Amino acid sequence: MNVQTKFIFVTGGVMSGLGKGVTTSSIAKLLQLADRTVSCVKIDPYLNYDAGTMNPVAHGEVFVTEDGGECDMDIGNYERFLNQNLTKRHNITTAQVYSSVIESERRGKYLGACVQIIPHITDEIKRRIRVLADGDMGADDMHGKAPDFLIVECGGTVGDIESLPFLEALRQMRFEEGPQNVLFVHVTLAPELDVVGEQKTKPTQHSVQELRRIGIQPDFLAVRCSNPLGEKIKRKIAMFTNVTPKDVLSCHDVQSVFEVPQMLYDQGIMDSIFTKFGSFGMVNTYANWERWNAIVRGLTEPQGPVVKIVMVGKYVTLADSYVSVNHALRHAGAAINRPISIDWKDSETMTSDSDLAGYDGILVPGGFGMRGSEGIIAAASFARINDTPYLGICFGFQLAAVAFGRSVLDMYDANSTEIVPDTEHPIVDLLPEQRGISDLGGSLRLGSNEIHITEGTSARRMYNGSPTIRRRHRHRYEINEKFIPEMEEGGLVFSAESDSGRRREILEIPSHRFYMGVQYHPEFSSRPGFPEESFAAFVRAAAGL
Ligand code: GLN
Repeated sequence: MNVQTKFIFVTGGVMSGLGKGVTTSSIAKLLQLADRTVSCVKIDPYLNYDAGTMNPVAHGEVFVTEDGGECDMDIGNYERFLNQNLTKRHNITTAQVYSSVIESERRGKYLGACVQIIPHITDEIKRRIRVLADGDMGADDMHGKAPDFLIVECGGTVGDIESLPFLEALRQMRFEEGPQNVLFVHVTLAPELDVVGEQKTKPTQHSVQELRRIGIQPDFLAVRCSNPLGEKIKRKIAMFTNVTPKDVLSCHDVQSVFEVPQMLYDQGIMDSIFTKFGSFGMVNTYANWERWNAIVRGLTEPQGPVVKIVMVGKYVTLADSYVSVNHALRHAGAAINRPISIDWKDSETMTSDSDLAGYDGILVPGGFGMRGSEGIIAAASFARINDTPYLGICFGFQLAAVAFGRSVLDMYDANSTEIVPDTEHPIVDLLPEQRGISDLGGSLRLGSNEIHITEGTSARRMYNGSPTIRRRHRHRYEINEKFIPEMEEGGLVFSAESDSGRRREILEIPSHRFYMGVQYHPEFSSRPGFPEESFAAFVRAAAGL
């Protein structure tokens, strides 16, 4: 392993939802702005092998990496903050760790030993982290180079049974790598309860006690609070926790998560990190900061008139279930200096066209199964008939084709076989190799694939003339070849394909202001300052530009 790699471990205290992911990404961003190479890892102590089978309404979006990992949405946050591709190995779960250990045991690798959490499980956790520090399996775009810093976020809250083996492994790593190579950041909360607004320190005290009980002394505390943490409070927390007052960092509410790196920087976190790691001589980072701050300003202070987008989908009750789509819309808005408002409509309960009137653009994101599909088909037809800009992603692409078949080609029962298996007009259907697969986990078409775009189409113009692009997928069903000639005669154009023409990737209606469907997930490729092209084009059209 490259001895230079330094580890920063981020743990959580008090309760979930305090923004460990934002703290992790922000620290990584600061180090990147200081011209260091970084990579981030998310540990999820749950027993699912990956996030693929988890309900997005309960757990947030399933984020897909280039190599086809179905990951926790924090991986998406890291990618967006760092503008860097990660891999499925950057999301470690309990199931992956246990599966490897059990598999090794069955192969007889432990030579008669009694297999235990310590050392076998903890060794496997450390191995997985070190492999990423090695760079062999590092971020896609680091080409096998070891990162200068590996920031590891441990999901869950200290005190949880599930996260104990992971925290134990991290504790051992500080011991093995040496304290000069490992730092711990603990994220806690200082609530303001009474009318006077006094910030309470007790939850932080207890949480750090719990962490120290299992042998981890944090180097930094990132304290979530609504207002900036007072100096007196910082000193009080410091006294109870053995963390220097200047390393007790206020993480108060800000308008955008992208402002957090600056907030931490202003409190001196970088000097502290470099001092603790014993490396001085920071590089001049002015140009990097200027670029990043310009991007943040674009995202937080767009000036022009609001572009009103409605999202019609199935998992609309939790804002996090389409978090990458929301971000991608804002990246696209920032590029034309327009704020975006996003309303969500539940495609299951949407009753009439008036639900969709008055919006500048209609977006249908991905989805699965029958529930709510008729609402999506209605929305796709509404957009087509009313010349409202439409972007359909995955399910929104497939059902736009179904809607077209039904109303333009009079195939009244047209459908996807995912919804009605014996429909007479299966416009969306399985390819032969997907038939007979019964497992839900990991059996979709996943990850990045090459897509070929037809010359002379809007899609080709949208992608700045590129004949090929690579985008990430997560689906099982496909447009059925059989119906393509008829649909094209009716005015629909399939303007991109993949897999030697076996799969259709983009549909468009040239006579429409903007009507696009994409089989891939463009939202996973959109980054602050670099909006994905289909989002950029959709938002421009919705803004009337
Ligand atoms: N349910 C569809 C399929 O499996 C679409 C998937 C999606 O929207 N991610 O192909």
